[in-house]
Amino acid sequence: MYDMKQSMTLIPTLREVPADAEIKSHQLLLRAGFIRQNASGVYSYLPLGRKVLQKIEEIIREEMDNAGAVELLMPALQQAELWQESGRWYTYGPELMRLKDRHEREFALGATHEEVITSLVRDEVKSYKRLPLTLYQIQTKFRDEKRPRFGLLRGREFVMKDAYSFHSSKESLDEVYEKIFQAYSNIFRRCGLNFRAVIADSGAMGGKDTHEFMVLSDVGEDTIAYSDTSDYAANIEMAPVVVKYEKDNEPMKELEKVKTENQKTIEEVSAYLNVDKKKCIKSLLFKVDESYVLVLVRGDHEVNDIKLKNLFEASTADLVDAEETKKILGVSVGSIGPIHVNNVEIVADFAVEAITNGVCGANEEHFHYINVNPGRDFKVARYADLRFIQEGDPSPDGQGKILFAKGIEVGHVFKLGTRYSEAMNAVYLDENGKSQPMIMGCYGIGVSRTLAAVAEQFNDEKGLVWPANIAPFHVHVIAVNMKDEAQTSLAEEIYTELQRNRYEVLLDDRHERPGVKFADADLIGIPVRVTVGKKASEGIVEVKVRKTGEMQEIHKDDLLPALADILKNL
Ligand code: ATP
Ligand code: MG
Repeated sequence: MYDMKQSMTLIPTLREVPADAEIKSHQLLLRAGFIRQNASGVYSYLPLGRKVLQKIEEIIREEMDNAGAVELLMPALQQAELWQESGRWYTYGPELMRLKDRHEREFALGATHEEVITSLVRDEVKSYKRLPLTLYQIQTKFRDEKRPRFGLLRGREFVMKDAYSFHSSKESLDEVYEKIFQAYSNIFRRCGLNFRAVIADSGAMGGKDTHEFMVLSDVGEDTIAYSDTSDYAANIEMAPVVVKYEKDNEPMKELEKVKTENQKTIEEVSAYLNVDKKKCIKSLLFKVDESYVLVLVRGDHEVNDIKLKNLFEASTADLVDAEETKKILGVSVGSIGPIHVNNVEIVADFAVEAITNGVCGANEEHFHYINVNPGRDFKVARYADLRFIQEGDPSPDGQGKILFAKGIEVGHVFKLGTRYSEAMNAVYLDENGKSQPMIMGCYGIGVSRTLAAVAEQFNDEKGLVWPANIAPFHVHVIAVNMKDEAQTSLAEEIYTELQRNRYEVLLDDRHERPGVKFADADLIGIPVRVTVGKKASEGIVEVKVRKTGEMQEIHKDDLLPALADILKNL
């Protein structure tokens, strides 16, 4: 359907900003009548919201089909046995919504579909001749998020496009991964978004095997490190530090223990002893899987727990709390240091190696060491890149300097390998008749989150400003005075004529004051407004571009070419 009359639909606009909506997109989608909240993190898409959602879905379908993927639809209700087979029934935690049927059988509401698709393909595909195979769906997902917030950005019920690919070789996976990567770039570009594909953490699988698509926005929850001159971008957790630290030529002085009273933090100690933070060694106790590790970084740096975790190929690396630290090292957090520590392994960031005559805790309350020299005064088991990258650091690709930006993750592409096929026995017979686990990739897009991300990037003080590609309608026709016969009949005429020319048109045929109609039109944010007012009897209407505010009077006979011209540039 290309048409909609406002008198016959549901667009409940609000003048006031809803109290619990913190960010622009959430406020505007509520105020402009696109969505309504039913429960925390659970929303209805009203007619306008649904239209935008559908448009995003259509773009996704086109691009996914183009990339060789095939659409299917899987159930949201999934038997527990599948999740038990993969092991995720026990590891997914409370985010997975679980329920029982009348026979007391356990189920989950799909948070994602690796299990269902793997079981499906395992049962239907037996030979290498049927691979590769890429399947996708657009479907409602359920995750009992700890903090549902920001409207559609983090819901507990949300729409996701999820795709899964199956392969008989790594090369085939690489090829499809590359195609889907390209499809994602096209999708987000067609949605009008300002985004970056960033290298993300893939845990044990190594750096290059996963990318997140991030929409640049101050309300984003992730921080992206990007180069000011190249297209390098990575999640800050992932960005390697490539600084070559130079040792200064200062001669080593004699190690000395000094009283530092109650100075505990790096700031306090460096101020108290009047030494640069760069000369201080920050010592933090971590628990890496089941072992304690003392981690050293320079005073002006922060430990990157993901790098630490990856260094040990561990599954967890967590900072140990003050109480437990005291138990293990025998001293309070503010006084720990690496000298004379021999009950835990010591690892350090490369920057620590270059420190000469530095400062560290003395493992004795109220004391620090000065003139500390790594190697001479304590031994480090391993030096590695263990800190977070910082703004101003050189870009890891060798081009330019690093800057930070906040991002909203709208998409994720990931090489799964054989994680699920091995656990669930999804095997095929290769050319030699030998049984092999299928190699898999998975690819997600937050469809409803993408809608919110567009709203977040495209708005002004008056309301939403939709990019033409995904706007709920192309043209908003406003009959200013519904009691004026010339106006209502011309508005109807234009409405019908535009539809016949395959424009999607919303007609404001409500008996409302002009001020209300104009304010609502700005709030809803359809790209072009055609106002049928006082000059209706002369066949003249006013055309306004929402984005620029540009207005012109146009005779109805010239309207079609004028609209074509305007919309082509939006
Ligand atoms: P996040 O870190 O934001 O929780 P995720 O890593 O859990 O995301 P994936 O499991 O990769 O997300 O899911 C694929 C996509 O689904 C994400 O890229 C995101 O766009 C979207 N998504 C994930 N969780 C939500 C949610 N609670 N509400 C809306 N969209 C979501
Ligand atoms: Mg999540």
